[in-house]
Amino acid sequence: MNVSQPWNVVFLIGFVVFYGIRTAYVRAAKSERTVISQFDGLEKFLLAIMFPPTMLLPLLYLFTPLLSFADYRIASAIPWFGAATMVVSLWLFWRSHADLGKNWSVSVELREGHALVTRGVYHFIRHPMYAAIWLWAFAQGMLLANWLAGWSVVPAFATMYFLRVGREEELMCESFGQAYREYMLRTGRLLPRLKTEEPSASSD
Ligand code: SAH
Repeated sequence: MNVSQPWNVVFLIGFVVFYGIRTAYVRAAKSERTVISQFDGLEKFLLAIMFPPTMLLPLLYLFTPLLSFADYRIASAIPWFGAATMVVSLWLFWRSHADLGKNWSVSVELREGHALVTRGVYHFIRHPMYAAIWLWAFAQGMLLANWLAGWSVVPAFATMYFLRVGREEELMCESFGQAYREYMLRTGRLLPRLKTEEPSASSD
């Protein structure tokens, strides 16, 4: 079984921490009533395409020989970068859950008493949780020496990210209006803005 190889053990530890963070914060968020939900066909499709590459394929690769046809030899330096990327990803994933608190949801939703969060890691970027998942996707690719289990998460998350992020920002603009639009001018989606844009007269 692949699970005994050192980099796979590193991945498995990260995997447990990743889902541990999510489980710990999901409970707090679920207690809040949802007032607007965009849990439509597109959202269901996006969540469905994320399941195999984030959960099923890594576990099949680690615990069964079923995916061995897609194994490859990885250059020895790459998993070190993968492990470093994973550590940064887990830190950002934890901080974004802690800062977003009860306003978190698995799809695009608005909760009762939903507050616009602009502090903590949200002070610098608008989508730190998605940034953490991007980092996670590349870390998974660099750690697992298997094309399917390692890299399929990158196109899957790219699809989710690009189809969702605009809709999420639209909902935030509808709900928080000028406050969110100004927040957009101060922050980047995934990377901090170097220069803050001035609000234009036609921005509302
Ligand atoms: N895109 C964010 C949050 C992902 S969780 C990130 O990557 O960090 C998805 C939910 O977060 C959405 O349903 C939306 O209602 C909520 N959300 C997104 N940005 C927010 C913000 N700045 N403040 C409060 N809620 C936010």
